[in-house]
Amino acid sequence: MVWELIFVASRSSKTKMAKIKILIVDDDIELREMYVEIFQNANFEVVVAGDGVEGLDRATKDLPDVIFTGIVMPRMDGFSMIESLKKTVMTSGIPVVISSHMGREEDNIRAAKLGVKDFIVRGTTRPIEVVERISSLFVEAGGEYELEFSPYAKDAQKLAKELNFQASYLCLDCNEKLMLKLKLTNPKDRVFEAKIICPNCGAVVK
Ligand SMILES: [Zn+2]
Repeated sequence: MVWELIFVASRSSKTKMAKIKILIVDDDIELREMYVEIFQNANFEVVVAGDGVEGLDRATKDLPDVIFTGIVMPRMDGFSMIESLKKTVMTSGIPVVISSHMGREEDNIRAAKLGVKDFIVRGTTRPIEVVERISSLFVEAGGEYELEFSPYAKDAQKLAKELNFQASYLCLDCNEKLMLKLKLTNPKDRVFEAKIICPNCGAVVK
């Protein structure tokens, strides 16, 4: 069975091209504006936030394709924001790239543990390389991604209801945790084809 989910978050889909939507989270206004310009020039759709709290809010509402965030910020730092993103089904699969002015080993280890896709040290990386590295994340993805369907996630109940999915969150065949597989079928209107699958035995839940 295939469901269609329409996410009607505030998105400006006026252009015909399927742009990659990036959320830039940083409290340094000058730096943020510089990246806004660079990513817009590279044909990205750009959303910004000034700290982790705002970043979390924007991520939930805008469902960006990728998040580029600083670490040290007021109210909520980058790591706390990433931890919160991982706890929600709809945001847990969004790739995150960290931007730091320090290449501290402990930050690198923490980032790797959180599944951060790339760790960019500012100053040693030219802005255009940042765009290239982030763009490269989408070459293989092809608009398809899988999310762990955690029953403990804040939006799990709502999502399960929308998908007419009332059974157990575990595979009936092998007891493995089920995943939500989303495929972006209409980038302009952000229509996804959604299936609940078992990553272990491949069963598609009907
Ligand atoms: Zn299974």
